[in-house]
Amino acid sequence: GNWWQMMPKVELHAHLNGSIRDTTLLELARELGEKGSIVFSDVEQVIMKNDRSLREVFKLFDLIHLITTDHKTVTRITKEVIEDFAAENVVYLELRTTPKRNASIGMSKESYLQAVLEGLMAVKNVDVDFGQEVNEGSTGNSHPTNDVCCLSNKKKIYVRLLLSIDRRESTEAAMETVELALRLKRSGVVGIDLSGNPAIGEWKTFLPALKFAKEEGLSVTLHCGEVPNSQEVHAMLDFIPGRIGHACFLEEDHWRKLKSYKIPVEICLTSNIRTESISSVDVHHFADLYESRHPITLCTDDSGVFSTSLSNEFVLAASTFGIGKKEMYELARDAINFIFGGDGVKEKLEEIFASAAVELE
Ligand code: 5GP
Repeated sequence: GNWWQMMPKVELHAHLNGSIRDTTLLELARELGEKGSIVFSDVEQVIMKNDRSLREVFKLFDLIHLITTDHKTVTRITKEVIEDFAAENVVYLELRTTPKRNASIGMSKESYLQAVLEGLMAVKNVDVDFGQEVNEGSTGNSHPTNDVCCLSNKKKIYVRLLLSIDRRESTEAAMETVELALRLKRSGVVGIDLSGNPAIGEWKTFLPALKFAKEEGLSVTLHCGEVPNSQEVHAMLDFIPGRIGHACFLEEDHWRKLKSYKIPVEICLTSNIRTESISSVDVHHFADLYESRHPITLCTDDSGVFSTSLSNEFVLAASTFGIGKKEMYELARDAINFIFGGDGVKEKLEEIFASAAVELE
C-alpha cells in the first residue's frame, strides 16, 4: 500500500459526528426522507457541497445531528469511524463527541455515551483497546487472547474518548458532561473538549466546569482562536489546557504566551482551509510552529465533513512545506507525547512506532 497510509499515526482531534462516512450519511438521510421527516434533496445538496464557511459548517452539524442522534445510529457511526481510522493505520485515536439529551426518544447524555461504547465494542475486524477494565477471571482482554489476536495479524487500535462541551450549553449542562466523564473514566474517557460554534457563548460560562474537570484529573483541550477574540484566547491560554485546537486567529502576544507555556496545538489544515479560517495552506501557522519546534500534531477535525483522512493531512503538510518522510514520521511519533492516555499506552505506542520504522525503511 501507500507509504503514508502504512505509517502509524496518532489522531488527537476528531469529532465523531464530523467523521461520519458520506455514504452512511446519505443512506440515513434517504431513509428519513422516505419517512417524510426530512426532504432528501435538500440534505443531499448540503452534504455534497465541498467548501463551506465556518458558519455553514455549524448549520450542517444541526442537520447531521437530526439524522444521526438515536442510539442505534450513534453505535453504528462510532463503529464505522473506528474502522476507517484503523484502516489507514491510526494506532491511537482520541475520539471526541458531545453527549446529547433528547427526551423524546429517551436519550440522556449517559445513554448517548453508552451507545458510543457499544460502537467501540461492536468493532470486529480490528482489536480495539479502549482501556476498559475487565473483571478478574475474564479472558476477554487478558494477554493470552491478545497474543492470539496478534498472531492472526489482526490490526489493533487504541481508542480513548473526550467528551465535548458545546458552546451553546449552560454551566450546569457543562458540569453534567464533566460528571459523566468522571463516572466513565474506567471506560476509556480521558478528557474534556470545548467546541461548538465559536461565535456563541462566553468563556466564563464554561470555566467552572473546565476547572472542575482539571481538578478531578481529567485532561482538557479547547477549540481556541477559531475566530478573532483576543480576550478569550488570553483567558484560554492562561487556563493552561493540555492542548488547544486550531489557533487560527492568534496575535503576537498570544503566540508568545502559547510558546512560553508550551501548549501543544492540534493542527487541522484541510478544515482551516475549507472553512476559510486560513486563506491558503502555504500561509498556515503550521510552518512557524514547526520551524520553532513548538509541540504540534496533525489532525483531521471532521474527516467526513471535510472529505479528508489523516494520511491525506500528512501528504498535504509534506508537500506544502517541503518536509521529508523521515521528518513526517517523527512528527507522527512525537504526537505520543501529547496524548491524554496514560504512560502504559505511551510505551506501547513507542514500540509500535519503533517496529514500524524498520518496515518503512
Ligand atoms: P459530535 O460532538 O456531535 O460528535 O460532533 C460534531 C460537533 O463537533 C459539532 O456539532 C460541533 O459542536 C463540534 N465541531 C465539529 N467541528 C468543529 C469545528 O471545526 N469547530 C468547532 N468549534 N466545533 C466543531
